[in-house]
Amino acid sequence: MKVLFASSEIYPLAKTGGLADVAGALPQALRQGGCDVRLLMPAYRGIAAQAEARAVANLGDPFGRGDAEILEGRLPGCDLPLWLLDNPALFDRDGGPYQTAAGADWPDNDVRFALLSWAAARLSQPGSPLGWQPDILHCHDWQTGLAPAYLKAWGGPAPATVFTIHNMAYQGNFASDLVPRLGLPWELYTLDGFEFWGHLSFLKAGLALADRLTTVSPTYAQEIQSAPNGFGMEGLLSWRGRELSGILNGADYTIWDPSVDSHLPRRYGLEDFTEGKAANKAALQAELGLPQRAGAPLLIVISRLSDQKGMDLLLGIMPAVLGLGCQLALLGTGDRRLEDAFRGLAESHGDQVAVRIGYSEDLAHRMQAGADMLLMPSRFEPCGLTQIYALRYGTLPVVHRTGGLADTVVDSTYDSMLHTQATGFVFDQSLASAFQWTIERAAALIRNPEQWRRIQATAMRMAFGWDKAAAAYTDLYRALRPHAG
Ligand code: ADP
Repeated sequence: MKVLFASSEIYPLAKTGGLADVAGALPQALRQGGCDVRLLMPAYRGIAAQAEARAVANLGDPFGRGDAEILEGRLPGCDLPLWLLDNPALFDRDGGPYQTAAGADWPDNDVRFALLSWAAARLSQPGSPLGWQPDILHCHDWQTGLAPAYLKAWGGPAPATVFTIHNMAYQGNFASDLVPRLGLPWELYTLDGFEFWGHLSFLKAGLALADRLTTVSPTYAQEIQSAPNGFGMEGLLSWRGRELSGILNGADYTIWDPSVDSHLPRRYGLEDFTEGKAANKAALQAELGLPQRAGAPLLIVISRLSDQKGMDLLLGIMPAVLGLGCQLALLGTGDRRLEDAFRGLAESHGDQVAVRIGYSEDLAHRMQAGADMLLMPSRFEPCGLTQIYALRYGTLPVVHRTGGLADTVVDSTYDSMLHTQATGFVFDQSLASAFQWTIERAAALIRNPEQWRRIQATAMRMAFGWDKAAAAYTDLYRALRPHAG
């Protein structure tokens, strides 16, 4: 089974969130299951050198922005074949994959990701200059949503297409005059094509035109079929409900496991997690300039700072949380308003709050190891990886019961504790009061170290490896292309 995986970010080359982790790890698991997977992503600045990539094909200049070249290399850390879409005018710039360093969307994101979609489609067709044609084109999120539209528009033999939704909130909706400029036919600018309230929607193109749809947890697959989590596309999603499945993401335990994690001052496992976590906690407090209080519950947030993540709820209950004697360490970037509010909190409560605005893979690992609890009060959460990592580090997640959070964390109730199933703390309603009460519940339980250790041990034993997801995706590919092997 030959699969082309097209994604706008792939760990470790470019990452803004969970999509990169998925696009870096799932293909490796698929390959172990026998698939021949190749990756396609843009050649953002500096990436070609890291992937040791060199030019192998020229695809021409479809949108008048200069030639699109394909560079061939390998994903660092494994030997997965990687194709980079090189177009210096569109991708070779400082800043992030989608935004400037100041946090504004790149004004030409429409053309940038249309080109990525176009290249994915072009490389999937017979006659691709790479001489390798996939049975399946697997696209991810709006940035690759137009690929099924191009294949449909061009006609002729084509691979089956799978479109995976990592987040319905990001849709890539642009002015409709782009349709001809991107070489797309008006015939697909319809209710059952890529038209969405008078706009060209990249996400809707993927949702309407791919052969199969998946999303990253079973609960989210249900939630997006109605408002508000369908973000206006719930009708289309429920209409395609039989072709939509929820496959839970996994964790890459070669990267996210405290017994092998090279970022930690002290590694630990199931046998010695109490001492291991205590050592990491003291080191983390020192690193962040927090008082080294072993007994103060240390709560962490590692997150994009956006409305989705419920950070406004956290801000609202901070006086109560601090009143419990907790410490908070936050690592995140995003919404300027939230960044400023958390910075302000750290300034006024330096003895209990440490805030790092920015992105640091290293610190994220040390926080997972040193913390007692991870806070994820997300309003919606397609899967969420941070809480899956936290479980393995014995850091108990406090989460809203939504999407993948509902599918991965078991609330500590009398029953679940009795049956050694509890792994964290879950609240049902997206309300500050519910969130506060749940933190209070957790802060009370941590005073019972024996019980807390039992929950930690259960959490650490949870296995969300990629093998299960890879088997589910492989089944889906086989159903689409039964003769492909
Ligand atoms: P999302 O994809 O919605 O951002 P996930 O929980 O699925 O959320 O994935 C988030 C990923 O990004 C995790 O690997 C997490 O460790 C990482 N991450 C998020 N913010 C930061 C940050 N500021 N610094 C380092 N890593 C971060």
